[in-house]
Amino acid sequence: MTDDAVPAQQRMHHYDESLTRLILDYVQERLSLPETPLDHPGDKRTVDELLAGLITREGTDPAKVIALYDEHLSKTVLSADSPRYFAFIPAAPTKASLLFDMVVSAASLQGISWLEAAGAVGAENQALRWIADAAGLPASAGGAFVSGGSAGNLSALVVARDTARRRLVERDGDQARYRRLRFAVSDQAHSSVKNTLSIIDCDPFVVRTADHRFTGEALRAALEADPDPETVVAVVATSGTTNAGIVDDLRGIGEVARERGMWFHVDGAYGGAGLFAPSVRPLYDGIELADSMIVDPHKWLFAPYDCAALLYREPWLAKRVHTQDASYLDAIHHDDGSYEWNPTDYAYHLTRRARGLPLWFSLVVNGTRAYEDAIEHSISLAHQVAADIEAADHLELVRDPSLSVVMFRRKGWGPDDYQAWCDRLLADQTAFITSTTWEGETVGRFAFIHPNTTIEMAREVLAATA
Ligand SMILES: *Cc1c(COP(=O)(O)O)cnc(C)c1O
Repeated sequence: MTDDAVPAQQRMHHYDESLTRLILDYVQERLSLPETPLDHPGDKRTVDELLAGLITREGTDPAKVIALYDEHLSKTVLSADSPRYFAFIPAAPTKASLLFDMVVSAASLQGISWLEAAGAVGAENQALRWIADAAGLPASAGGAFVSGGSAGNLSALVVARDTARRRLVERDGDQARYRRLRFAVSDQAHSSVKNTLSIIDCDPFVVRTADHRFTGEALRAALEADPDPETVVAVVATSGTTNAGIVDDLRGIGEVARERGMWFHVDGAYGGAGLFAPSVRPLYDGIELADSMIVDPHKWLFAPYDCAALLYREPWLAKRVHTQDASYLDAIHHDDGSYEWNPTDYAYHLTRRARGLPLWFSLVVNGTRAYEDAIEHSISLAHQVAADIEAADHLELVRDPSLSVVMFRRKGWGPDDYQAWCDRLLADQTAFITSTTWEGETVGRFAFIHPNTTIEMAREVLAATA
C-alpha cells in the first residue's frame, strides 16, 4: 500500500490499481455465480476470533482481508438472494441494479437536494413516477426513496399526524394540540407500524379482522361503536401482509377514510410490487385513494438493499412537516419558482444515498415487461406449490396462497418438528425456510421472490417433510 511518492495524508485517497482489481475481481466472481450459495449462521465466538486484532496502526494487506472475508466471514452470512431462500422476505436484486449500485458508491452522490444532484434526483423521480402510475396516483404525487419500509411508514405517519393535528387546531383552537390521536390499524399490521405509533406517541385503534383481511366494513363498524371516533385521524392498510400475503380491502378502507377526512396510508413494503402483475392487479383496486404509500424495491422489485419508495398524494403536506431549516441549508431552498425537488424534504432524513438509482437503471435497461414477468413467476410458483401440498396426504394448506406466500401444515407436527426440519434443510443447503405462527399454531411458510427459484427446489423442501 505504501508509495513513497504520495504524501502521507493522501495515501488512502491515491488510486491503487491492484486494490481496484482485487475488489472488481471479487465482485465479478460473485455476480457470475449461477446460484448464490445459502451459507450458514455464524456463532459469536467464531466471528470474534476471525476479527480479533484486525484493526492495526499500519493497516493490513487487502488481499489477506478479502481472503478472510471471502473464505470465512461471508460464509456466516445467509444469502437472501439465493433462489433457495424462502424465509422472511427474500431478495433478488437484478445484475444491472447491483452493478449500478457500485456506480452510485463510486460517485459519492449526495442525494439530499436538487441543487446537489439534479440528474440523480430526476432519475429517481422517474422511477417513483413508474410506481405512482401503477397505483393510479395523480400527477401531483411524489416523494423519495428511503432506507426501508420502516423508515417509509414512520415518515408518512408523521405527516398524517401533523396534518390532522393542524386541522384540529385550526378548528378547535390551541388546546386541540394536546388531544391524543389514534390510528386505525388491523391486528395484522406490520410491526414497524406499531413501532411508528410508539415513536410518534399516537395510540393504535385496533380493528379486528375476519380471516385476517382488513375491510372498510370492519373499519366503519369499529368507528361507529367508538365514543370518540374523531380522534381516529388516520388508517393504515396493508397491500400484502408479510406473514400471509393478504391484500386488505383498499377501496373500502379508502372510502371510509375519505368520508371521515382520515389520512389513508397503504403499506405495500412487500406486496406493493404486485401492482405490476396483471394477474393480481385487481386486488389493489382503491390504492389510488391513498394519501401516502410505500413499496420496498429491495423486496420484490429486485433492487439491492436498502431501498424503499415513499409516495405522497400531496407532497407539499410532507414538505411542510419534514423540511429541515438550518441557515447552512438556505442555499438548497429557493422560492423563486424554479424547479426544485429536494428528496430530503419528504422524510425524516437529511443526508441520503441516491438509493433509487440502482432500481432506475435496471428498470431503464431491462424494460418494465421484465419486471412483470419476474413478479408473475413467483405468484405462479406459489400456486404450483399449493397444488403439490393439496395433493400430498400428510400436508395441508393453511389458506389459499396470496401473492407469493404459501402457508402449510405438516399433519402431526409440533414446533420442534418444524424447527428440526428447517435446521436440516439449512445444514445440507437445500433451503433456508422458517416456520411461522398462524392463529397460534406453528406452520410452514414459503415466501417466493427469486425468479430463479424452480418448482424442483420447492419440491425438495416438501419432500423433506415426508
Ligand atoms: C418488510 C415490511 C416492512 C418493513 O420494511 P423494512 O424495509 O424491513 O424496514 C413494513 N411493512 C411490511 C408489510 C413489510 O413487509
